[in-house]
Amino acid sequence: MKSYDVVIIGGGPGGYNAAIRAGQLGLSVACVEGRSTLGGTCLNVGCMPSKALLHASELYDAANNGELATLGIEVKPTLNLAQMMKQKDDSVTGLTKGIEYLFRKNKVDWIKGWGRLDGVGKVKVTDEQGTVSELQAKDIVIATGSEPTPLPGVTLDHQRIIDSTGALSLAEVPKHLVVIGAGVIGLELGSVWRRLGSQVTVVEYLDRICPGTDEEAAKTLQRSLAKQGMTFKLGTKVTQASVVGNNVQLTLEPAAGGAAESLEADYVLVAIGRRPYTQGLGLETVGLETDKRGMLANEGHRSTVPGIWVIGDVTSGPMLAHKAEDEAIACIERIAGKAHEVNYGLIPGVIYTRPELASVGKTEEQLKAEGRAYKVGKFPFTANSRAKINHETEGFAKVLADANTDEVLGVHLVGPSVSEMIGEYCVAMEFSASAEDIALTCHPHPTRSEALRQAAMNVEGMAMQI
Ligand SMILES: Cc1cc2nc3c(=O)[nH]c(=O)nc-3n(C[C@H](O)[C@H](O)[C@H](O)COP(=O)(O)OP(=O)(O)OC[C@H]3O[C@@H](n4cnc5c(N)ncnc54)[C@H](O)[C@@H]3O)c2cc1C
Repeated sequence: MKSYDVVIIGGGPGGYNAAIRAGQLGLSVACVEGRSTLGGTCLNVGCMPSKALLHASELYDAANNGELATLGIEVKPTLNLAQMMKQKDDSVTGLTKGIEYLFRKNKVDWIKGWGRLDGVGKVKVTDEQGTVSELQAKDIVIATGSEPTPLPGVTLDHQRIIDSTGALSLAEVPKHLVVIGAGVIGLELGSVWRRLGSQVTVVEYLDRICPGTDEEAAKTLQRSLAKQGMTFKLGTKVTQASVVGNNVQLTLEPAAGGAAESLEADYVLVAIGRRPYTQGLGLETVGLETDKRGMLANEGHRSTVPGIWVIGDVTSGPMLAHKAEDEAIACIERIAGKAHEVNYGLIPGVIYTRPELASVGKTEEQLKAEGRAYKVGKFPFTANSRAKINHETEGFAKVLADANTDEVLGVHLVGPSVSEMIGEYCVAMEFSASAEDIALTCHPHPTRSEALRQAAMNVEGMAMQI
């Protein structure tokens, strides 16, 4: 039986970052991963392949929809879907191999196989051949991630009714793709296939897209996506879906009750959310229990059992790779006797559609519910010179600041490349910056980031370029 300071179960952004930091801090560490590659959902079937397809499909769409022609570039693109998928797969392979390199560099043992708790301080691993080995550890970190949430009445056949993993590898462009769920994953993958030629209908139970995001930002994004050709059926639930030949027959009903309607598609993507994954983990051997959603509770990354820690999608908080990474660092530093905190109030969220939506901190709806007095500074990209010369003027920057102290409380951006810009406000807000601090900070010209400064100026009604 091999013994370690720390054994981590799961090699996703939570697990692999925890393993790397443990190695850096001189702890002996093993990471147990059941997949044949490291990187978890994020690298294999999540963040990275979806961004690869979003990037490629955006360029294809720009060539196809006349956008490049506006710039004086006349091309007639031909879609080579197999090549588009291949370049995505090649990039993913490069990234997962990169984690193997980082493991070697930081002396992390990758134990290949599925891990199972076997009492406190023990993990049993079953490899591909069925061979079982046992590891011992002072501390065990559960980082087993999440899986797609199933929808009652809609059984995945992984051919015509698919989840996000299936939608990342289709061999043909759907004629009509119905996306169930207007969250981040549904909108991103719906965008990919819309750009490649599918008719896309998004069916959402709630009466708005992207629940939890700032409502004004979500509405602006919805308008843009609708203008691009996406159809939204909000306040609608899918009660049934059955595969008939090469088609799927769906039954839809108004969420508030009423007459049912039917809809036909050749592919259906179920993207109603994800749920924590703890299957076969042997929680009962240590007396750990999940809540109704399958979630493992934590306090400061500690589970209710001493010596067992939980991080990432399998525990509370937003299911995001950078949240898992932050928790990984904090958890391992605590194991190593250091102090570290995750600031859950400042975890940014991005929807990588076009335009993108990026936000951090509180939404207007949250501030209203809290009864907190706030000021709003907004600046549209139509007035930003870089966005204008690039013909990318959709969206705005919105800064919410405390009415009394001017501290920035929330930032909501809809527009071109805003995923790359929100980090500025993450840093500023981590340092409790005021809107005035941003307004007084020199930004390079011409860049889209000037819109962030102008929005901050506009908290006091002092934007200069509108
Ligand atoms: C299509 C899609 C797009 C996404 N895009 C983004 C994005 O742009 N940005 C973002 O921040 N997030 C994104 N996410 C979410 C992101 O992928 C997750 O939040 C992140 O991967 C969570 O990391 P994790 O380490 O907690 O879990 P995971 O990445 O799920 O990793 C858990 C790993 O544990 C392994 N495992 C589970 N049980 C065991 C066991 N018993 N023994 C051994 N191994 C086990 C699994 O095989 C898996 O590899 C996306 C997700 C999807 C599905």
